[in-house]
Amino acid sequence: MRVALFGGTFDPPHRGHLSVARAAADAFRLDSILFAPAGRQPLKSNGTSTSFADRLAMTALACASVDDRSKGSIEDPRLQASALDAPRADGLPNYTVDTLAELRRTRPGDTLFNLVGADSFLDLPRWREPARLLELAEWIVAARPGFSLEDLSALRLTPHQRARVHLLASTDEDISATDLRRRLQTGDDCRGLVPAAVCDYIRRHGLYR
Ligand code: ATP
Repeated sequence: MRVALFGGTFDPPHRGHLSVARAAADAFRLDSILFAPAGRQPLKSNGTSTSFADRLAMTALACASVDDRSKGSIEDPRLQASALDAPRADGLPNYTVDTLAELRRTRPGDTLFNLVGADSFLDLPRWREPARLLELAEWIVAARPGFSLEDLSALRLTPHQRARVHLLASTDEDISATDLRRRLQTGDDCRGLVPAAVCDYIRRHGLYR
């Protein structure tokens, strides 16, 4: 099986996440993409006020949503929400290196990928154990409006590491959860940018007010 981990805050999950995941699954023949909201994101110092349970529930709804732009209106079974990065009992942040090591242990025969957007990848030097991260999985780096992947020299990748990084052309979804949270706070329901089932969840649970 070809499996990708797709970590993030997913606060809330949006059309950008889904477009990137579908494009990656098509381009790299992935059998599944595990959308894993982080219990505690180590690199986002101000954290999130939305509970893990809400973010996981919204992520599950997003993964089960149909692609509005496809004619068939069928769910994409490759997209799956995962509780792999649930909050740790010791309260420590969730490090991707631990998650990938766990996936490697539990799926010894699978080809593992780590799917990230360009902004996250350019931040790689700040991640825990970058060299090991590049050994544990191949990386799929999705272009993201506003972040250039033309010059990766600052990351000082060895030729072997660079060969494990695959670039995915832009899906051109200029959407960020930060912007969505701002809009939701002003009463915009963000329909079209967030799957309808997620919009309904946000409204019913009074999130982002
Ligand atoms: P925030 O604005 O709160 O930082 P975000 O929209 O970047 O959130 P995350 O949950 O942090 O969403 O993202 C999870 C992963 O998805 C990251 O690797 C991020 O780079 C990627 N990603 C998010 N939005 C896009 C997008 N529009 N295009 C490409 N990649 C994206």
